[in-house]
Amino acid sequence: MLYLVPTPIGNLEDITLRALRVLKEVDCILAEDTRTTRKLLQHFGIETQLRSHHAHNEHASVTAIARQIQDGAVMALVSDAGTPGISDPGFLLVRECVRQGIRVECLPGPTAFVPALVASGLPCDRFHFEGFLPHKKGRQTRLQYLASLPNTFVLYESPMRLVKCLEQLSEHCGPDRPACVARELSKVHEEVKPDTLAGLAQYYKTEGVAKGEIVIVVAGNA
Ligand code: SAM
Repeated sequence: MLYLVPTPIGNLEDITLRALRVLKEVDCILAEDTRTTRKLLQHFGIETQLRSHHAHNEHASVTAIARQIQDGAVMALVSDAGTPGISDPGFLLVRECVRQGIRVECLPGPTAFVPALVASGLPCDRFHFEGFLPHKKGRQTRLQYLASLPNTFVLYESPMRLVKCLEQLSEHCGPDRPACVARELSKVHEEVKPDTLAGLAQYYKTEGVAKGEIVIVVAGNA
C-alpha cells in the first residue's frame, strides 16, 4: 500500500506518533528532496531507505512505483514540508494507485493553509483553496475569479511577491476587503496579521521584504 505522510511545516514537534511509526515501518520513503527528508529522519533516528520522487521525475516514475507496490512493497510519500499533494508532488502517484486499486492512506497532519485559515478570524465554514497563483499567463483571470468568490479564499505566496500580490488583490477585490497574512507558522517568528488588503499591502511595503513562508487569506465577496 501507499501512505502519504505529512511532515512539519516548521516546528518538529508537529510530527505525529503515527507518522513516525509509518516512516519507520515502510520498505521505502519517496521524498521530494532526499537531503531535506534525511535530516528529518536523522532527527528522529529513522533509517528507512529514501528514494527521490519530485515534480521533475514523477510523470516518468509513477507507473514503476505503482508496479512495485502491486508486487508487495509498502511505501510512504513525503514532501519537503506539510501534506504531499497540497501544492506539492503527490497527485499523479495517488491517481495511478487509485486507478490500479492500490490502497492509499493519507495520514492527518501538518499543512500550512489550515492554521492560517482558522487563525485569520475570517469565516472558515466554507472556503476555497487556491494555492500558488500563476506568475504570468492566466494570473489576471484567476484574480478576477477569486475576487468574485462568495467564500474566504486561501493563497500560498513567496515573500518576494507578497506586496505585488496584495496590491493586485486589492485592485481586484477592493482595498477594504478584510484579509490576513500568516507568516512562519509554527516557527519562532510566527506572525498572523489581519487587516484590509490595502492596509496589509502598505504595511509590508513599509516593512521591506517579509521573510519566511507566507499564506494569504482573503474574505469572500460579501
Ligand atoms: N505541502 C505544503 C502544505 O501542506 O501546506 C505546501 C507546500 S508549498 C510548496 C510551500 C508553501 O506553503 C510556502 O511557499 C508557503 O506559502 C506555505 N507554507 C509552508 N510552510 C509554511 C509556514 N510555516 N508558514 C506559512 N506558510 C507556509
